[in-house]
Amino acid sequence: MIKHHPKFQLIQGFVNGELPASLSAGIAIHADLCSECRQQISLLTEQLSYASFEEVTVDKYSVSDSGKQDNVNPLYFEQAIAAITKSNDIDIIEPKIEKNIIFKNHVYSLPFVLHNMVLGKTANIGKLARARIQLDENEIHSSLLHIEPGGSVPEHTHNGFELTVLIAGQFSDKEGEYVPGDFIMLDKKHPHHPVSEKGCLCFTVANDSLHFTQGISKILNPIGAFIY
Ligand SMILES: [Zn+2]
Repeated sequence: MIKHHPKFQLIQGFVNGELPASLSAGIAIHADLCSECRQQISLLTEQLSYASFEEVTVDKYSVSDSGKQDNVNPLYFEQAIAAITKSNDIDIIEPKIEKNIIFKNHVYSLPFVLHNMVLGKTANIGKLARARIQLDENEIHSSLLHIEPGGSVPEHTHNGFELTVLIAGQFSDKEGEYVPGDFIMLDKKHPHHPVSEKGCLCFTVANDSLHFTQGISKILNPIGAFIY
């Protein structure tokens, strides 16, 4: 069961369109797998569209202090509805087509939100493989990170934040085991050391390189740049 969800402020930012594309993609990947957050998103979206509609109609039907409406064309609303309903256009809903991605002979279904994003070449270090997602968000880097069975990322913190959304497989750290859909947002207060016994594919977003907390940090530094 998914235990890690985005905070409410993030979901609200997502609905309001205030988040960078990378974080929005992370929330969309999570919501695809989490009915609870999907429901919250549709509720907030409904509230937002209702509020926007009210703003428009308040403009059109502004009421003066006397309670009398100013500049009202009483037919406006009916006309608008008539114009909408007379249209014969049908919204064609494109069927969702599966798109796969392969890491070291493992085939994964690519989350829908990533279908139209450009992926860079895959780079490998040991049991880790990374494909950069080309979003051009300056210091914010997004990637697909694959860990082969038995692989791990050495214990580290971040100078900035690090978001991991587990797409497939499993990994664990001292907080426990994660399942597909888990949305893990960490900052430099949280050192962690993810280990994947069975292998996994993650969507990651980070805005600063890794800072290794263990002794041989110099040797591990190339991995830091690699992961970030
Ligand atoms: Zn959720």
